[in-house]
Amino acid sequence: MTFYRGRFAPTPSGPLHFGSLVAALASYLDARRAGGEWRLRIEDIDPPRCPAGAADAIQRQLEAFGLHWDGPALWQHDRHDAYQAALTRLVDQGLAYPCSCSRKQWRDYPVYPGWCRQGVREPGRPVAWRLRSDLGLRPVMWQDRLFGEQCFDPADLGDVVLKRKDGLWAYQLAVVVDDADQGISDVVRGFDLLDNTPWQRQLQHALSYPEPRYLHLPLILGEDGQKLSKQNLAPALPTEDEAVRPLLHGALTALDQAPPAELREAPVAEQLAWAIDHWQVARLSAEPHRTHGADAALPD
Ligand code: GLU
Repeated sequence: MTFYRGRFAPTPSGPLHFGSLVAALASYLDARRAGGEWRLRIEDIDPPRCPAGAADAIQRQLEAFGLHWDGPALWQHDRHDAYQAALTRLVDQGLAYPCSCSRKQWRDYPVYPGWCRQGVREPGRPVAWRLRSDLGLRPVMWQDRLFGEQCFDPADLGDVVLKRKDGLWAYQLAVVVDDADQGISDVVRGFDLLDNTPWQRQLQHALSYPEPRYLHLPLILGEDGQKLSKQNLAPALPTEDEAVRPLLHGALTALDQAPPAELREAPVAEQLAWAIDHWQVARLSAEPHRTHGADAALPD
């Protein structure tokens, strides 16, 4: 069996909702079905967006749903030195550069036009650090396990920010360094992150990291047809067992795994055992999944 290590990497900007449960569950089942490991990474690189207690709440929610991770959780706030080392490597290779431009200055362009590539335009001002996308101009390609072949033109991607002007690390760099350091073989996550993957592939290439396999999951929409998200005030997942059981069943339904109806009230461990045994990526539909009452019996 090929080596498998997956991960769930929530941003603790609030508690998990049904959409995040679906992503956590799919990556958990894919890992367990493969006899692999499943890691937890708390993506708290942006402290102002992460209220105190949210990461703990997320861990309690995962436990209530029986989604137990292997080893200790990795916290991004502890990872400054690793991110800095990666950025230094890119700078030394001429692949990253400081940039003083503001979004306002290039608002008429679809992506940042690379004005600071040859030197900071306004020295003395705060700088962000960007990845050069204009070197070795090869299309960025990968085979997504659900969405098939993906191909992006580097000119459309632009020079992605690796470190922000306020000194905070950008998600794209942190996720790539962490996936590599944690030895992640398989990334299973929501469709909304698919368009971030090309930058992550570029960075993996620039840093000579192995490339994980990718499975992006169908988008989960609420009853109103809107994406479930913290911004749309999707309700937090409960942790009481009576509420957890039908929701877990609903998440398996949202993943097109067709769990038997009688499993709906079964203990979490029993539902998960069934789901690991029956997990099939081939059943997943690439169409957005619209939840309805029975599917996602969330409390008000
Ligand atoms: N932290 C990201 C989120 O919560 C997920 C990152 C990933 O899975 O790559 O949306």
